[in-house]
Amino acid sequence: MTHMEERYLKLEETIRSYNPAANFAQIRQAYEFAAAAHEGQKRKDGSPFVSHPLAVAQIVAEELHLDSESIMAALLHDTIEDTSATHEEVSKMFSPTVADLVEGVSKLTRVQFTSKAEEQMENLRKMLLAMSKDIRVILVKISDRLHNMRTMEYQTPAKQKQKSFETMEIYAPIAHRLGMQRMKWELEDLSLKYLDPIGYDEIIQALEAKTAEYDDFMQLIDKQIITRVEEAGIHGAIVYGRLKHPYSIYRKMYTQNKSINEVFDLIAFRVIVDTVADCYNVLGIVHDLYKPILGRFKDYIGTPKPNMYQSLHTTVMGQSGTPFEVQIRTREMHEIAEYGIAAHWKYKQNGRGAGDENSYEWVRRLLENQEGADAEDFIHSLKVDMFADEVFVFTPMGDVINLPSGATPIDYAYTIHSAVGNRMVGAKVNGRIVQYDYQLRNGDVVEVLTSQSARGPSRDWIKIARSSEARSKIRQWFKRERRDENIAAGRASFESELKRSGVTIKELTAEENLPHILKKLSYGSLDDMYAAIGYGGVTALKIVGRLREDIQRIIQKRQAEANPPAAEQTKTEQPNKPAVRAKAVQGIIVEGMSNCLVKFAKCCTPVPGDAIVGFTTRGYGISVHRCDCPNAAPERRTKEEEGRWLRVSWAEHTEEAYRTTLQVTGKDRMGLLVDVSTVLSSTKTRVSSLNARSTPDGFALIDIEIDVPDHNQLQAVIRRLEQISGVMRVTRPAG
Ligand code: MN
Repeated sequence: MTHMEERYLKLEETIRSYNPAANFAQIRQAYEFAAAAHEGQKRKDGSPFVSHPLAVAQIVAEELHLDSESIMAALLHDTIEDTSATHEEVSKMFSPTVADLVEGVSKLTRVQFTSKAEEQMENLRKMLLAMSKDIRVILVKISDRLHNMRTMEYQTPAKQKQKSFETMEIYAPIAHRLGMQRMKWELEDLSLKYLDPIGYDEIIQALEAKTAEYDDFMQLIDKQIITRVEEAGIHGAIVYGRLKHPYSIYRKMYTQNKSINEVFDLIAFRVIVDTVADCYNVLGIVHDLYKPILGRFKDYIGTPKPNMYQSLHTTVMGQSGTPFEVQIRTREMHEIAEYGIAAHWKYKQNGRGAGDENSYEWVRRLLENQEGADAEDFIHSLKVDMFADEVFVFTPMGDVINLPSGATPIDYAYTIHSAVGNRMVGAKVNGRIVQYDYQLRNGDVVEVLTSQSARGPSRDWIKIARSSEARSKIRQWFKRERRDENIAAGRASFESELKRSGVTIKELTAEENLPHILKKLSYGSLDDMYAAIGYGGVTALKIVGRLREDIQRIIQKRQAEANPPAAEQTKTEQPNKPAVRAKAVQGIIVEGMSNCLVKFAKCCTPVPGDAIVGFTTRGYGISVHRCDCPNAAPERRTKEEEGRWLRVSWAEHTEEAYRTTLQVTGKDRMGLLVDVSTVLSSTKTRVSSLNARSTPDGFALIDIEIDVPDHNQLQAVIRRLEQISGVMRVTRPAG
């Protein structure tokens, strides 16, 4: 038997150990196809080339326990790229899926990483795109890279450095994000070996020395823990100690500027048990046996990491004063910690073929969100923390759902299914009823209460939802389900908007005007237009604005008919009707008046995009209020005043900035003001004054005066402020 045949049989054996039903006939065929295609090619170390795909398939089987198609793709992964084999051939002989996987891996192989940010981004995009189609492509590619890194010693020093850099920058972070800790560590350690050979050797040697030194100590701890765990009636627990990985020590040494002897904890123990309850029991036992170090306990079971990692972490002091870390988790958590998405994929693939869609939904979202972003931002978001802007919550069944940060139960419901959202009548988080605008936090268990007789979403939900997906689903609902209501609501709001301009619907939609108007607005019928206003696709204000010229024409025509030219001197001024197109002052058009003095009311500080109304002051021109300002409320107007309220509107071109005020209410804490300032500066908001005070009952009130160009920008700032931890409310004072 040849050496290669022996290795092939070992591969079969590995596959059989976790998947006895694998398609061994086809796998054998894939191996023989690859061996024939690569016939005569040699690796740098002189071995036949097929030893490489064979080794990659071995990693795919041994480390990731993937399916037959992935094994075949691993065996064939270099055939389309490096031999005369074609996609068509592979597709016919194996399956179109296998051919697509091989092609996907080849495409990634062609991606060359450069130091140029622009090119790097393009390449990353390609990589993420491939991943979003079939996650197995990247799993095979990472296995390929791992084998190449394991055999890197035969490459030239230049190639070693380049590949190691790429691995450190791209492949290790992706492996991390996919939760594949074992492969991530190995990739990092191997890269470090070539990127900083001296630093690496230093750590390896020190670790070897420590291994001997700590051997007895580790065996003792091991025994103490397992004895106490057994005594507590927890059976079948696995306890083992290990020294930490060279790269994790290296990073600590460099970021904290320490020598290896000063690095705090080099030893880590793992305790693997059957149930979550046992995890917490073991934690109690460990804290009882050894002195816990304050501030080092982390509960990633209660709050899993974004990459699905779950464990309890604590650092304790052994009897001899040596600190060590203990990680406690269940078997399933352990599998996910080691193999990440591959473990998840395996659990979910039964009958679903393409694996768990949601687990890599983030890939797709990352791509969508980055449309048009500049290269530096993109790489930053990939490397540093791709996912700080996400929250991970659970369904009552324990499935993980990721949502944009700030998401509410409404976003959650629509992510589950439109039908769930549309029938929602309430929501529970961690067993308690919450408001619709409750902001979900990592680890929350969310339950949507639905009812067949639910009336459907409310229009407010569009404002509360954070994800564009939820918002568009709500709009769709209004569009579809309530056409009649939409038409009625749209007609009513159009009518009231139009009334202010001085013409009636009847006049505007008279036979001689209607076809022209519908064409201008691109609606098939008047009902279509009303429906669009009704479901919120367009505002009545906007439509009236676009018809301004037509309205003007109707008014002029009416006046010409009513007042023949001879009677012109009798024409009285009509301040509420726009007889002429007024000139804007400070971005404000006052109907029927030009060049009048305009000022913005201090009580409500309107900005472009706010609904506004004008008041004729005595001697100070027109004061502009927001329509929702209590000082402008129609019920508060006296009879005498009534005639002094005027219709005003924002001009098409407004000024660069308008001053307005915000009030932030939050739980008082250290650093709150810093966070508020950070948001203001990161949104490039000009602050003209900022006033903070705390109340005796522990709240903070912050008044901020800022300059913004319009309502949209202001809303963006408000949303960001609302996301600050501890902030409960951000309001625009009025009245
Ligand atoms: Mn390869």
